[in-house]
Amino acid sequence: MNAPARFDTLPRYATAAKAIESLKPSEPLYLVRPKKFAAAAKLFLDGFPGDVLYAVKANPHPIVIDQLWKAGIRHFDTASLGEIEIIKAIAPSAICHFMAPVRLAGQAKAAFEQHGVTDFVVDSQSELDKLLAETGNPKKLRVFVRLVAQLGGALLEMSSKYGCLPEEAAKLLKRVKTAGAQPCLTFHVGSQCLSPFSYAQAIEIAQRTINLSGVQIAALDIGGGFPAAYAGEEPPPSHWYFDMIKEALSNLGTPNLNIMCEPGRALVAHGISLVTQVVMRRGDRLYLNDGIYGSFDEQRFAGFDENYPASAITLDGKGNAKLLSGEKRPFRAFGPTCDSADVLPRPQMLPDTIAKNDFVLFDAMGAYTVSSRSPFNGYYPDSWAIIDD
Ligand SMILES: *Cc1c(COP(=O)(O)O)cnc(C)c1O
Repeated sequence: MNAPARFDTLPRYATAAKAIESLKPSEPLYLVRPKKFAAAAKLFLDGFPGDVLYAVKANPHPIVIDQLWKAGIRHFDTASLGEIEIIKAIAPSAICHFMAPVRLAGQAKAAFEQHGVTDFVVDSQSELDKLLAETGNPKKLRVFVRLVAQLGGALLEMSSKYGCLPEEAAKLLKRVKTAGAQPCLTFHVGSQCLSPFSYAQAIEIAQRTINLSGVQIAALDIGGGFPAAYAGEEPPPSHWYFDMIKEALSNLGTPNLNIMCEPGRALVAHGISLVTQVVMRRGDRLYLNDGIYGSFDEQRFAGFDENYPASAITLDGKGNAKLLSGEKRPFRAFGPTCDSADVLPRPQMLPDTIAKNDFVLFDAMGAYTVSSRSPFNGYYPDSWAIIDD
């Protein structure tokens, strides 16, 4: 794999059509859309009543980090030393928070000593002990106890691997306090959470935990999970989430609480579109140049039944890019690798006239796409351009 692409060296076009006309890309092409990144960041920075941490795992590409930094994001939810190093290389003054509850040996020490990280998450006594031993200066730490928040409003749950129930969390809060660090709470309601009410319910669980512990917490981090609009689905507007969260927080009755959130998907999904090419068509089968081992990795997860908004583009005799219209039909879309499993799990609705060498433009491709592509079978999507529409 090459060094990551840099924003200031990328070709720049007014629209996706112009990029396709000029590049006629035979390899998958990521289109960075600066205005979409700026708009998503503004929505959170203006609307959320606290610090907005970008969850780096949604897309750690330097171009994406740079876009969010330019849009005013200053806090980053990192889950490994590797992610902290990515952020610090791009923005040395960025504030990194180490929000994974289970860390490799030595990573908390390196984060604390080399990168000034003071926020950490735990969901067990053993990780708390390890954290305290590695950092050796509890007074400087804020330790977030991760709660289970499996509330059914999200497509991808985030509570079966990490988190503890209120009774256990209350014990941990007391131990954090006894150790001399600042006790805090966090949860994740699940990714692509279509129910704003899940946040209010989770905040209630936090309240119950605070009551059980008798400990005053310094910060509450309500995690990520905010949804992106995909094909055929318009999630509830962001202000429903923010209003619901503000109301639930006002019932907490804990003044001077530092409130945080960790959006990943919602900050980056619409900032990138992807141009793929039809390599071959056979009946209702389209063989594309990208698939589930590349940018479509997230489609493999059973719960995630979203499709990326897709449109078909052809180059006419004069080389002008034109949107294919006409009646649509379902296609099975195969990826480029030799693995039979490399097929999108749901039909793609595209015009029946689509043919070899045409392009399929997928929107909302910024989250959990670039971050989890693999070089399996020699295919690694890594071409980039900027579009200004
Ligand atoms: C993945 C993750 C996020 C981001 O989740 P989204 O659904 O993309 O907003 C935030 N916090 C933690 C702890 C995570 O693991």
